[in-house]
Amino acid sequence: MSVYDLVLRGGVVLLPELNKEEKLNIGISQRKIAALSADEMEGREVIDASGSYVSPGFIDSHMHDEEKEDGDTIEKALLRQGVTTAIAGNCGSGPLGDEILPFRREPWINLGYLTGHKKLREAAGAVDRYLPATKAQIEIMRSLLRKELENGSFGLSIGLEYLPNTPISELEALFEVAVDFPKIWVPVHIREDGPASVRATQEIIDLALKWPLRFQISHLGSMTGFGQLAKILEMIDRARAEGADITFDCYPYDAFCTDLGSAVFDPGFEKRWGKGKEALEVASGPNRGKWLNEEGLYERLRKEEPECLIIAHVIKEEEVRLCLSHPECSIASDGLLKGGHGHPRAAGTFPRALRLLREMGASWPQAVRKCTSLPAGMNWLDKGLIREGADADLVIFDGDKLRDTATFTDELLPPEGIKWVIIGGEPAVKDSEVLGGPKGELMRRN
Ligand SMILES: [Zn+2]
Repeated sequence: MSVYDLVLRGGVVLLPELNKEEKLNIGISQRKIAALSADEMEGREVIDASGSYVSPGFIDSHMHDEEKEDGDTIEKALLRQGVTTAIAGNCGSGPLGDEILPFRREPWINLGYLTGHKKLREAAGAVDRYLPATKAQIEIMRSLLRKELENGSFGLSIGLEYLPNTPISELEALFEVAVDFPKIWVPVHIREDGPASVRATQEIIDLALKWPLRFQISHLGSMTGFGQLAKILEMIDRARAEGADITFDCYPYDAFCTDLGSAVFDPGFEKRWGKGKEALEVASGPNRGKWLNEEGLYERLRKEEPECLIIAHVIKEEEVRLCLSHPECSIASDGLLKGGHGHPRAAGTFPRALRLLREMGASWPQAVRKCTSLPAGMNWLDKGLIREGADADLVIFDGDKLRDTATFTDELLPPEGIKWVIIGGEPAVKDSEVLGGPKGELMRRN
């Protein structure tokens, strides 16, 4: 009998694409799943998984690891909730490879980057967020994008709400470059939230019907969870039936989070959300914990501290649930921290989403599919499944105890119920504690 490097014994293995769960042992050798069966297995190391579920490691297709000094904190927060692979640089903020990759040689999770439209613009000298890039600037953006995609970037991320007057022709000039590459992913933070999110979604659907690229509407619940969601899900379903390659993701919270100085908080937001400054909480920096209805605070921070993060408690909870329950909705954290602070989604998204999905009647395989094989497929990643030959990225959890504990006041509290996280065949987390050094790999699109 072969002796494996590591054996996971007696767990209930979740097989999301087969919609099945089965009590099986897993033998791991040389970073891969070498055997999967009910037979006895011998290992140099053995983890008793009996009474627990064994799932593919969670895949977070939307997170932000662009703040150099927050890399370790956010990667560990994701790791403790069972995330083994993530794609960073969403919403147009993906930095150029030379600016970030040297600082991410040893990530805590497997990590890939997108190239951000906003960063391409900045590098080309287009810094006014209300003005379109010039022809000459677009030429520079095109050649930078080509270089980044050649160097393994996972695609082009777009954040139109942050650059609200971007003409479609500017994006299409970049798509002309992107179509030369295989397996390019184009996640979009749409141009407008609230009632106007209907036309903002239609704009991306039209692009997805026209261009042979894979589009994603990012954090759909936080853009359209103000009464528009049911209609928008129908629009996306129809577009998919017509052949558009378009999907979406969602995080399981009724509050979103972004920079106060961004165009999202330009005057007029009350009308869009039906809520005002009393629903906006400062989440980072020296004023953390204050609310923006404090006299003069909005005006002062917009001027003096535009980079501070704001949590906007403005989304309808029932719409978040509706979004999560759609069979094609993948779970993604949108995790973003500054100085170690931000929204609890960075530490709680996956356990919280799984618990909500179970409450809404999903089976365990159906629920974990949204965290594993669905986002892996979207990104052409050869991950997200438990089968012989697959990367040994796994999470072992107690189905009864699994829950998030991170709150808006203590946003990095680790979840309960995550017993083990395994990356590349090596135990990386035990009972919420990160073990040893980083075990992830910096990934390139292939
Ligand atoms: Zn975004």
